[in-house]
Amino acid sequence: MPTPDHTPDRPAPVNTIGAGGRSHLVRWLTGPHDYAWIVDHHSMRSLRSSIRAVFAGNTLLMAVCSALLLRSPDGPQGTVARTVALVVMAVQAAAIVLIVLAPMPTTQRRARNYFVGFGVFGDVGLTLILVLYSPVVHAIGCALFVINSALCTYFVSSRWLLAHLAWAAAVIGYALWRVDDAHLFDPYAVAAGGLVLLAAVCGVPIAAHIAWNRLSIDAQQSLVDPLTGLRNRRGIEVSVEPLWERASRDGLAIAAVVVDIDDFKRVNDTHGHVAGDDVLRSLARRMRDTLGRDAVAGRTGGEEFTVVLCGTRTEVTGFVDRLPRRLSDTDDAVPVTVSVGATVIGAPRDHHFPESLDAAMRDADTRMYAAKRAGGGQSSTALI
Ligand code: GH3
Ligand code: MG
Ligand code: MG
Repeated sequence: MPTPDHTPDRPAPVNTIGAGGRSHLVRWLTGPHDYAWIVDHHSMRSLRSSIRAVFAGNTLLMAVCSALLLRSPDGPQGTVARTVALVVMAVQAAAIVLIVLAPMPTTQRRARNYFVGFGVFGDVGLTLILVLYSPVVHAIGCALFVINSALCTYFVSSRWLLAHLAWAAAVIGYALWRVDDAHLFDPYAVAAGGLVLLAAVCGVPIAAHIAWNRLSIDAQQSLVDPLTGLRNRRGIEVSVEPLWERASRDGLAIAAVVVDIDDFKRVNDTHGHVAGDDVLRSLARRMRDTLGRDAVAGRTGGEEFTVVLCGTRTEVTGFVDRLPRRLSDTDDAVPVTVSVGATVIGAPRDHHFPESLDAAMRDADTRMYAAKRAGGGQSSTALI
């Protein structure tokens, strides 16, 4: 049943990028980062296992490189250095198992811990291995930071990306100092090699992160109704599948609900369009406050809203019954009533998605009109 936690119908923490070059950069640098979006976005959901395979593959690559060099005269010498290398490889092996077995998190906090944790683990693990090897291998191995740079570009905030780049630059600087100190190459060759490494590791990610950030904001906003901040029709369409899956898996009911403001044209005619917009926004706010993590809501017409929620049959029917009262307040400056139509699918696992939900939505629409004809300010619910 709905709880106060707003997932998956969370309004995305959109890092809006306005006009003007400087403000672009400042907002990119200081704005919120939506960690869950990349794995929760409808076009990315099917790629979750591929992303995990990439993470596991990268960790495996680092572990294999470490193992190869353990047998090389350029590898770690002495018991302490070899023990450290073996411990790092054991942790890498454990990480691979975890990545393969654990599902990818989709909530904001867990996704942040997952991606930032993986980035920090990659950088620290690689550094520990690199400093154990001869200066030249250390320098060449710094090229592996490119992999972490690419992952940070897609999965972490601008701040964490910059932290990664600063760390990588420092480890590259240390490698160059070691190569120079060993007098293996002339200082010009060392400087040129260092520049190539820095360009490869740090050159592209910032520009790529800014571009990716802008595209992701655009993609998020294309699913949102700008007036109310709720989802639009497309936003609803792409959000219902996880709810359906959850309801089917957990044996819950799922309800298609249509909410329409009664006599809304009169509000505009009497109080003006701006007051009408305020009514729509305040209704959307109430709807957000009323719904929880097991519901998605959107404005799917001028003064028409759609909600899909899951819970036990008693919970969802009780919720629909209370909705007309929860969304209206006679003390409002411009009081309105709403008509609600709902169709509850008792056992979604016995139905086909999305056909059954579409049919339930059409039925809910018909019921909403029946509630309106019966005087408005009430709900009409059917259970199928
Ligand atoms: P009913 O009780 O039968 O639903 O009547 P109604 O007046 O609510 O519905 P009708 O379809 O006749 O009118 C809907 C009105 O909603 C007309 C339109 O001007 C207004 N409207 C649609 N979108 C917006 C909007 O974004 N802002 C405002 N202020 N009004 C809007
Ligand atoms: Mg209406
Ligand atoms: Mg209408």
